[in-house]
Amino acid sequence: MPAQPDLPLAAPELLDSMLTRKFGPEVQNYFSGSPLNRLSFLRTDHAFLAAALTHHSTAFVAVDDLAPAARDAANLAYVSHADLSAVIGENPFAKTEAEMIEAYNSKVASPLILFLGINDKRHEGFEYKAYKGVPYFAVDITPKGSHEEAAKGVIETLKAKNLIFLQGRSAMTLNASDAAIFAQARALLDWNARNPFCSGCGQPTLSVHAGTKRVCPTADLAPGASARGPCATRGVVSNLSFPRTDPTVIMAVISHDGTKVLLGRQKRWPTDWYSTLAGFCEPAESVEEAVRREVWEESGVRVGRVVVHSSQPWPYPANLMIGAIGQAVKGGEEINLEHDPELEQAKWFDFETVRVALKTGTSGLDEAPGEGRKEGDLRLPGHTAIANQLLQAVVLGGFLGGETKI
Ligand SMILES: [Zn+2]
Repeated sequence: MPAQPDLPLAAPELLDSMLTRKFGPEVQNYFSGSPLNRLSFLRTDHAFLAAALTHHSTAFVAVDDLAPAARDAANLAYVSHADLSAVIGENPFAKTEAEMIEAYNSKVASPLILFLGINDKRHEGFEYKAYKGVPYFAVDITPKGSHEEAAKGVIETLKAKNLIFLQGRSAMTLNASDAAIFAQARALLDWNARNPFCSGCGQPTLSVHAGTKRVCPTADLAPGASARGPCATRGVVSNLSFPRTDPTVIMAVISHDGTKVLLGRQKRWPTDWYSTLAGFCEPAESVEEAVRREVWEESGVRVGRVVVHSSQPWPYPANLMIGAIGQAVKGGEEINLEHDPELEQAKWFDFETVRVALKTGTSGLDEAPGEGRKEGDLRLPGHTAIANQLLQAVVLGGFLGGETKI
């Protein structure tokens, strides 16, 4: 079985506090725990961005069609401005944001340059006002538009330096800190690529705020462009211009007597593989209500009290998984798969079976199960999945009281 990457380490200040003593340690899920300070309030400060983009210490994540350049399966490759200068071209932050919007030309496609933040634990000479650290950017080097040939050249040069591009979910082998940096880059590059047109009026949009907002300019300097009409996003409906994060609930449901946990499986999963139930939060629904609705729809089980355990950013494409633990109401444990065909099976498992599976039966979906697992035993997701953390919280006792550890 390939080694699963470590999870982010909790910062020391999270470990000893009144809240930790009362509610236990905060769970740091995979894809969270970025070492970067995002400095979101500086995304409109082009003097800052222009200086950060060209500083000698600045680290760049190069991303081709959502696949990041990497040294190997565990480590991103942080390349330099010089490596990407053919794609980046002139410093786009030399103009102010207002000047960029005024000069908007829908026929000129600039590469997306996304400011990720600064690592303020490292200092290699960059500082701006009160902020010091190593700046990080992601650049979309997908060959397209007017920089297609330049991007192809950059990709060939990076490959000649023995860098690889991690495709699809293979980025889940990255070390915890690189995984969090990649998650931020992937979610925002994907959102920009999917939103070239305004959702208010349908006209082409321009990326601003260093890759974290798209605006609908009032004019387009492209030859032959028709006059642009009014648009609600230029007034009060600005939320249409910002990236989406879609909340998803994922929940370990325990039986009313607290001895069993409800798991389900989809048809396409390997034999014996189960996980916790999950689903999207709907508009105008609390997290607790979404948990109760999803569990009833998928399994027929009726859930009472729900508590939130932890959350996990999930950049495929832009989810926030909200991990919860719920308890079935008395007499509400009967399983009924007739409402919603999403699950092939849902079953109650006693805690000991889940404890054994957490020890010997965890892996990624397309990997072989862990060593020591007996044929036919339950299989579960590995510890980079929040489902695994929820099950640990339930069956090892920490979250529900007690001290049991595997
Ligand atoms: Zn518009």
